[in-house]
Amino acid sequence: MDEGASRLAVVSGGSRGIGRATVLRLAEEGFDVAFCYRADEESAHQVTVQAGKWGTRVVASRVDVADADAVRAWISRTEREVGPISVAVTSAGITRDGPLVTMSDDNWGAVMRTNLDGVYHVCRAAAFGMMKRRRGCIVNISSVSGVYGNAKQTNYSAAKAGIIGFSKALAKEVGRYGIRANVVAPGFIDTDMTDALSGSVSERIRDSVALGRMGTAEEVADLVSFLASDRATYITGSVVEIHGGISI
Ligand code: NAP
Repeated sequence: MDEGASRLAVVSGGSRGIGRATVLRLAEEGFDVAFCYRADEESAHQVTVQAGKWGTRVVASRVDVADADAVRAWISRTEREVGPISVAVTSAGITRDGPLVTMSDDNWGAVMRTNLDGVYHVCRAAAFGMMKRRRGCIVNISSVSGVYGNAKQTNYSAAKAGIIGFSKALAKEVGRYGIRANVVAPGFIDTDMTDALSGSVSERIRDSVALGRMGTAEEVADLVSFLASDRATYITGSVVEIHGGISI
C-alpha cells in the first residue's frame, strides 16, 4: 500500500476459506480489516478473535453481497466508523454445480447474484471513496473456471469470467484515479468449498495438478496481499492464476 496512507481493507466472504486467510494476512501486515459474511456467525467471530492478536481493528458484519442496499450500507458504515478504505478484496462466492440441461433457474441465479453481482456491489460502493481520494486497490477473486471453463459449472464459469471482464474494464476506468484493479484466479484450493467434492473427484484434481496437491487458502492470501501492496504498483487489469500447474 501507499506509504503514509490509511490501511483499511474490506474483504467480502472473510469468515471462511480464502477470504478468512486474506483477513488474517492483511491484519498481520498491519491493516485494519472490515469483512462480511452471509450466515456463519461462529466462523466470523473466530476470525475476529484470531486476527485480534495482530493488534489491528478487525470488524465482522453479516451482509449478503447479493443485496445492493446492504452492501452500500456496510461500506458507508465502515468508512464512517473505521476509516477510508484503501483495499477491497471480493472473495464471497458459492457453487451450485450441475449439467446445463438440468440447471435450475435458482441455481443459475444464486451463483450469478452472489459471485458476479456481489463483486459489482462491493466494487461500486468502495470505488467511490477511492476515486475521491485518488488511491486504492481492488482484488477480485475469480477462478480457473472463469478462464478455461469447467464442465458442470456453466453458471459458476460464467460468473467468474464476468468478474474478469468487469475487472479489466474497471482497471481502465479508474487507473487515472490511482486505483488498481486485479483478478486472482485460483485452481483447486483446500477450503470448505472443495471439501464438498467427492473423494474420486479430489483424486482426479490432484492427478491433474503439476504440484500434485491442492493449494492452501494461505497461498492465495499471499498473492492477494502482494497485489494489494506497494510491491505491485504497476500491476493492474491483470488476471493472476494460482493453480499449482493445472491442466483443466
Ligand atoms: P468458502 O470456504 O466456501 O467460503 C466462502 C465465504 O464466502 C464464506 O465466508 C461465506 O460466508 C462467504 N459468502 C458466501 N456467500 C456470501 C454472500 N452472499 N454474502 C456474503 N458472504 C458470502 O469458499 P472459498 O473456497 O474460500 O472461496 C472463496 C472465493 O474463491 C470464492 O469466490 C470462490 O468462488 C473462489 N475460488 C475458490 C476455489 C477453491 O478451490 N476453493 C477455487 C477458485 C476460486 P458464510 O459462511 O457466512 O456463508
